[in-house]
Amino acid sequence: MKVPLLDVNAQNLPLEEELTATFGRVLRSGRFIMGPEVEEFEKEVACFVGARHGIGVSSGTDAILVALMALDVGPGDEVLCPTFTFFATAGCIARLGATPVFVDACPVCFNIDVEDAARKMTERTKAIIPVHLFGQSAEMEEIMTLAEEHGCHVVEDGAQAIGARYRGKGCGSMGDFGTFSFFPSKNLGGFGDGGMVVCNDDRLAERARMLRMHGSKPKYFHRAVGGNFRLDPLQAALLRVKLGHYDRYTRARQANAAYYLERLSALEGVEPAAPAHCCCAKAQEEALAEARIVLPACYEHNEHIWNQFTLRVREPGQRDLLRAHLAEREIGSEVYYPLTMDQQECFAELPAISREGNGVAHQLAGEVLSIPIYPELEREMQDWVVSAITEFLGIETPVEE
Ligand SMILES: *Cc1c(COP(=O)(O)O)cnc(C)c1O
Repeated sequence: MKVPLLDVNAQNLPLEEELTATFGRVLRSGRFIMGPEVEEFEKEVACFVGARHGIGVSSGTDAILVALMALDVGPGDEVLCPTFTFFATAGCIARLGATPVFVDACPVCFNIDVEDAARKMTERTKAIIPVHLFGQSAEMEEIMTLAEEHGCHVVEDGAQAIGARYRGKGCGSMGDFGTFSFFPSKNLGGFGDGGMVVCNDDRLAERARMLRMHGSKPKYFHRAVGGNFRLDPLQAALLRVKLGHYDRYTRARQANAAYYLERLSALEGVEPAAPAHCCCAKAQEEALAEARIVLPACYEHNEHIWNQFTLRVREPGQRDLLRAHLAEREIGSEVYYPLTMDQQECFAELPAISREGNGVAHQLAGEVLSIPIYPELEREMQDWVVSAITEFLGIETPVEE
């Protein structure tokens, strides 16, 4: 049975009529830059995540860039970010001439290790960018406290976590800025590139809006050097359609995750990562010493939206063998991410502080494997994935026909 890692058509084609009608509406409006479609979508997303302002931008990467530009991040500044993340988080810091300082990961939730972040704070630290990796919030209370103590800004990279919650608060709504991506593989996947910046502060929102349009206000009067970071009205209009169905997608991902957790945790050699508090994470490692595969955990205070369902395959080399075993059975999987930021060639010249003490993240990069979790995944497809993993572990279990 073919089980792809993601099937965008399974989500989009049932909406074909609605999407086509929307395309027609934008076509006939003749308005292809900014305007009401973008404004309405901005309001809807801001409201959805619980922030005052939404600023539509050209991608999740540009959302981070605009947020950092609005906070005046530049040469001489250090910005803390996880070393275990997608490149965009770190790339935006470096593009502005600031120094990315890479922080280790929590082995339970994969997010930024706040104790390590505290160790790496200096008087030059201008901001910290927690990433809500794989759809689960980082430890925001501790991060906000740390940032307040050091007087630095917080930009939440919510590219993988739109609609996820931390102690009831929407991811992206807690820091100075939150950023989102509508790349097709994200939970709110669009039809090309797109992104959004959200924020609660009127002045910062105004500044981000201005930077999105070449730093001009009014037109042709430039107060700052910005860029063209606009979201297309066509993209906004189509995304509004998908936002209308979004709760259903999230519930389906959560049901799929619950099913994997139930079926996989019953296998010998498979252990759920204990959903303890982040600070106890290193102690958990010993408890998991016997596990061959560790399942992802959701902390009780979080609502996880499962952008990825990520296993840790413990023994060296086993991860790649499992991946090949799944591929033979036509099951898609992916390694998010095989290299941490401090291991990237483009960051080889960074000072030592940027790169030291990232041992947990290095280990994760060798162990992680994400398996299909998309909303339209059917039960029998999940059963096929479970049976393939069972087979890999060499456990004799009757496979139901
Ligand atoms: C996808 C992603 C981005 C970048 O989003 P794009 O829309 O592809 O530019 C940034 N950060 C993280 C964590 C992501 O997963």
